[in-house]
Amino acid sequence: MARKIGSRYTAHQILGRGSAGTVWLGSGPDGQVAIKLLRDDLSADQDLVGRFVQERAALVSLDHPHVVGVRDLVVDGNDLALVMDLVRGTDLRSLLDRERRLPPRAAVSIAADIADALAAAHAAGYVHRDVKPENILLDEATRSALLTDFGVAKLIDEPARGGSRVVGTPDYVAPEIVEGLPPRAAVDIYALATVLYEMLAGFTPFGGGHPGAVLRRHVTETVAPLPGVPDELWRLIHQCLAKGPASRLRAGEVAARLREMSPALAGMPALEIDEPEPEPAHEPVGAAEPAGHIHPPASGAVPLVHGGPDPDSANRETHTSMRVPAVEELAGGAHGTARAPRAPGQPRAGSARHRAAERRRRLRIVAAGTAAAVGIGLGGWLAFGGGDEPTPPAVEQPTP
Ligand code: ADP
Ligand code: MG
Repeated sequence: MARKIGSRYTAHQILGRGSAGTVWLGSGPDGQVAIKLLRDDLSADQDLVGRFVQERAALVSLDHPHVVGVRDLVVDGNDLALVMDLVRGTDLRSLLDRERRLPPRAAVSIAADIADALAAAHAAGYVHRDVKPENILLDEATRSALLTDFGVAKLIDEPARGGSRVVGTPDYVAPEIVEGLPPRAAVDIYALATVLYEMLAGFTPFGGGHPGAVLRRHVTETVAPLPGVPDELWRLIHQCLAKGPASRLRAGEVAARLREMSPALAGMPALEIDEPEPEPAHEPVGAAEPAGHIHPPASGAVPLVHGGPDPDSANRETHTSMRVPAVEELAGGAHGTARAPRAPGQPRAGSARHRAAERRRRLRIVAAGTAAAVGIGLGGWLAFGGGDEPTPPAVEQPTP
């Protein structure tokens, strides 16, 4: 079912579906490419198409080994397509869905690659604004991580009509954005530290529950330490999750420090920590009601359906556009430390989450026997995380 995209490209088969559209394996004058065909409702929006065209030069200008390059922008009839470098592998969200937590060295390696990408982008004056596992692609051949969707969040989410909205994915949104300040480079550092925390812990530091509650926690709560994370790594994460953007490290320094500490993490297995108990459900203050229905996920990320994408596609809706809570509304929230991870082996018995965890544990035991032969990208990534030593198979025991 090949489909022409402009005069130079052909889309051959669907690689994946995302919130902004469908990504196709395609070909063009310089060989194979990935073509992101934006959703019909987006490509029908003349303002949005205009913004994409205006930003064309910026979109295609970022050339870096850890950035998924945009080669072209095609406006053809009703189609709006971004032609990108093809990355063979998987994305970090899929890897986390399968593995839950990564060995610290693999996590640090991925974060260092993305920090490199951000250093280059920030030096060129770009802020990504939507760093999250969905936008990190893992190249199987080079075993490196690449950041994708540069500039896309800004173009899609910043309608000319303006207004004060939180743009981004609640779990990864920096506190200054919640407070209505313009996004600067430090928001990407905060999001990257959140991703790094998530790769180690299996859940995000402030995620869980209603998106409004998640946004409030970014502003009012401090991050609970993760047991078992080496001090130096924890200090870096903690500093990059600082509430004040000026207190966070710069991307270049994050990359350098992560690479420095990487050798010492060789052979260290993924952490054994249990997800904190969910907070009792309550109506958060200052949160606009989402347009769609919220489906609490098994992991820490909070999906918020926004717009009306294909309901039977397997994509995850993690993007949000919400009213910014007023300062006094935020001040009404609890001040304290974010939900502390519980000691290993003490899940809240009987809960749905507990049962899901049980299922995952059993699955992992089954999977341990075949750990060496897991699907695309995965084996390579985890072996890489352990350095020269092979990653030990999962040894988690099910609780009776
Ligand atoms: P969106 O940002 O619109 O939600 P994504 O960029 O996450 O969409 O793309 C959806 C899926 O398409 C990804 O999970 C990935 O599997 C695939 N994909 C995206 N970009 C590429 C690429 N450059 N090369 C290969 N596959 C890609
Ligand atoms: Mg994306």
